[in-house]
Amino acid sequence: ILDVRNVTKRYDSLEVLKGITLGLNKGETKVVIGPSGSGKSTLLRCINHLTTPDSGEIYLDGEEIRDANINAMRARMGFVFQDFNLFSHLNVLDNVRICQMKVKGADKKAATHRTEQELARVGLEEKAGAYPAELSGGQQQRVSIARALAMDPVVLLFDEPTSALDPELTGEVVRVMQQLAADGMTMVVVTHEMSFARQAADEIIFMENGHIVEQGSPDAMFTSANNERTRAFLNVIA
Ligand code: ATP
Ligand code: MG
Repeated sequence: ILDVRNVTKRYDSLEVLKGITLGLNKGETKVVIGPSGSGKSTLLRCINHLTTPDSGEIYLDGEEIRDANINAMRARMGFVFQDFNLFSHLNVLDNVRICQMKVKGADKKAATHRTEQELARVGLEEKAGAYPAELSGGQQQRVSIARALAMDPVVLLFDEPTSALDPELTGEVVRVMQQLAADGMTMVVVTHEMSFARQAADEIIFMENGHIVEQGSPDAMFTSANNERTRAFLNVIA
């Protein structure tokens, strides 16, 4: 359902992505790991054209993503950022509701109903009237996930969704993500949460230096990664 073919990206002399190819079937969860600077965020940003790739193609549901159709395509991809990216002047209800109304043209009643459903899904139905500053980081991130879900995304992209959180708040966000994976959401997750990777990933992709060095099932990667660099990385973080 998501097909990334030979995507490259450079910033001046720095080749950040050196030909990335990966595919994602409906309902799959792929976890991307790798050292800082290996190109993980750039890959996610290229997928939804927050950054334009230099070459290669990206297909969503069989249709190539291009600058010309990017708004329509982006509406079908949810993006969850490390730093939540909520609108600080809007309460939780409006944060989740506004994109449904502005981007999808949902009417207020339908958007409100959907918002209530998604807030319940992430365990925050009590917080609809709260402002982001009144929430913990874990709660803010769950609002951000609810906002993405309310758009009915074909695929959800997560860029280190828990790395700004204290360890005790990481768990509540990881549990929501595990539930999404179990419910059959299609997701690409950049994370160092190895418990999530082990439990929820269909495949783990190890990136280094703009390349995919190795990919495989969690079992294969944790027990018998072929590549020495992958093993060394997993030993440090797992
Ligand atoms: P981290 O784990 O620290 O988040 P990452 O794997 O997500 O790292 P990227 O953010 O994709 O890495 O960055 C890859 C490389 O590209 C880095 O060397 C970074 O400095 C460089 N880079 C990223 N964005 C830009 C930009 N807008 N302009 C110039 N260089 C950039
Ligand atoms: Mg990054």
